[in-house]
Amino acid sequence: MLVLGIETSCDETGVALYHTKQGLLSHALHSQTQMHGEYGGVVPELASRDHIRRVLPLIRQTFSAAGLRLRDLDAIAYTQGPGLAGALLVGASIASALGFALEIPVLGVHHLEGHLLSPLLSSPAPAFPFVALLVSGGHTQLMEVNGLGQYKLLGETVDDAAGEAFDKTAKLLGLGYPGGPALSRLAEEFSMAGKPRRFELPRPMLHSGNFNFSFSGLKTAVLTLVNKHEMTQETRGAIALAFQEAVVDVLTEKSLGALAKTGLTQLVVAGGVGANRQLRASLSLRAEKMGATVFYPELEFCTDNGAMIAFAGAMRLQSLENLDQNLDKTFTVKARWDLEMQEIAVDS
Ligand code: ATP
Ligand code: MG
Ligand code: FE
Repeated sequence: MLVLGIETSCDETGVALYHTKQGLLSHALHSQTQMHGEYGGVVPELASRDHIRRVLPLIRQTFSAAGLRLRDLDAIAYTQGPGLAGALLVGASIASALGFALEIPVLGVHHLEGHLLSPLLSSPAPAFPFVALLVSGGHTQLMEVNGLGQYKLLGETVDDAAGEAFDKTAKLLGLGYPGGPALSRLAEEFSMAGKPRRFELPRPMLHSGNFNFSFSGLKTAVLTLVNKHEMTQETRGAIALAFQEAVVDVLTEKSLGALAKTGLTQLVVAGGVGANRQLRASLSLRAEKMGATVFYPELEFCTDNGAMIAFAGAMRLQSLENLDQNLDKTFTVKARWDLEMQEIAVDS
């Protein structure tokens, strides 16, 4: 089965072709970060307009890279939510229009399910069940994943998401938007230079006895440091490292705690912050010591992309007995949407 995946939930237009036997055939992405950078954050109206401009050329590019034609398609999957309503509507309407014209099924996919399953695109891939640490720009969650659509929330952030904390802290350090990757590079440079650590930041909720997180206090702690010290490049590096270490510590401890509690031995890390090298090193090292394995998506599939949507859509479609059954003939988007409510509904 050949599935076209379309992602337009926020500020990346992602398109991909996934074949259930041959794997990922091609994918293309346009990131709007530069456009939004000027405004210090995502401007929803600009995002929608840019998706409209990009999506068709990206679809053409994806088909030509795979040497395929529209009529080769068996189904289309698009991100139905959560995300920006106007941005989501672009993907939903193009998917529905194409599906209608080609007379093939169209399926709305949960964006976080896409992130969650993205490590399954790599090899070796984890097998169900596993614990998933989802660390993206909008979410920080620990989940017990027992199968497709069987997601149990173990804990989540009570305020900022990890990626959001990275971006807000980066802004305080004058690193632009979205500054997560830049902050991470700065921390790495400081650490590689072998300079002594200068700051120690709190580890919020480390001993809270549950799997919840809180990151907004860290940003305030960074603001205090920024106001107190002259912001030389070296001080910036020292603060970036202290911040990153605090976040990585909490994410690592809680993830290992979740493995211990569930008795599972596979940890899957998904979402943009999963690209962070210090986080990867820390998780892999600690997991190995307890006999567990950590799985990551390819770096390019950590942040938003079409491949994860095509893949999650293909998995969902394969689980349906009759492709035409259960599929919406109309389309809706869900700006807010809980992942836990994702049991697979198969009519009897
Ligand atoms: P959501 O999926 O929750 O709706 P999103 O799609 O915006 O949010 P992603 O695209 O998964 O989130 O990830 C983007 C986030 O990842 C940004 O906050 C970015 O700063 C962060 N990020 C990307 N690379 C790194 C890195 N190397 N270190 C830390 N953070 C990073
Ligand atoms: Mg993004
Ligand atoms: Fe995302």
